[in-house]
Amino acid sequence: SSTVKLLGSAQVITSVSNAVKELVENSIDAGGDCIEVKLENYGLDRLEVRDNGCGISRDDVEVMCQKSYTSKISDFSDLDRLDTYGFRGEALSSLCSVGKVTITTVTAGDDVAKCYTMDASGKIVNSSLSHITKGTIVVVENLFRNLPVRRQLMSTKKRKTEELKRIEGVVKCLAIVQPRIRLTLAHNKFCIWQKNKVHNLRQSLVQAIPPTMVNQLYDLEYQDEEVIVKIHMMIPRKDCNVHALCYGNLADTFYLFINRRPVRDRQLDKVIENMVLILRK
Ligand code: ADP
Ligand code: MG
Repeated sequence: SSTVKLLGSAQVITSVSNAVKELVENSIDAGGDCIEVKLENYGLDRLEVRDNGCGISRDDVEVMCQKSYTSKISDFSDLDRLDTYGFRGEALSSLCSVGKVTITTVTAGDDVAKCYTMDASGKIVNSSLSHITKGTIVVVENLFRNLPVRRQLMSTKKRKTEELKRIEGVVKCLAIVQPRIRLTLAHNKFCIWQKNKVHNLRQSLVQAIPPTMVNQLYDLEYQDEEVIVKIHMMIPRKDCNVHALCYGNLADTFYLFINRRPVRDRQLDKVIENMVLILRK
């Protein structure tokens, strides 16, 4: 049954970029406005995500890494008005099964922060006091240490470089759609990308793609009468060189969000490509 568990959880956390996505989403859900992502050896040796959000309450701490535990919905009807990225309660438990997880956290109601070391089954095996004054730090060490073949495959220079690009993509994507959040990404102590707090999507986008290119974007907004759908679209102007803007293939470079969730879907990609072609005519 431990194999079943491993296989089951391996579906949620299959790569470093995946782990980064889940942790950054948790930090956004926690409501802070500053998130730091730090990687060592492309995140394989150490991955840290730190936020200044609400922290994890003492009641939740015992169960936070248990499979299917979530504090974000209490019953399925909540799914209709979901305003968090998380709701399945899979990420932390999966991370525990593929790496060594420590979580430092403090809430407004705690007098002191605590640091918890988790075991592979998501149980707390050790806790100590910590000095942080706000938010949560999740550290994952030795990702995939118990899956040596996967770790080996991910350790070639080529794969690591590709994966770092993917991590950058994940971070940028979430950063764009969360203008009010400051986000930094560091690798081996060097900051490789950062976004400051801004007020709107256009300003976020400026930080993800060159500003001269943002100036070449049409800003289109469509709102349904009953406000069931609202579409906000920024597309390259007619006279703008799309290929320069997109560094190649349009489908590789556009960002699509539905309810602030980054979305990737072949059929939607096609719809959008066609829409852009029509609008540019
Ligand atoms: P989900 O996000 O689907 O609820 P996770 O496994 O990602 O599931 O997280 C489990 C729980 O741990 C969350 O519901 C939340 O209560 C808590 N949690 C995780 N990360 C953070 C964080 N950075 N700040 C506050 N709470 C967190
Ligand atoms: Mg989550």
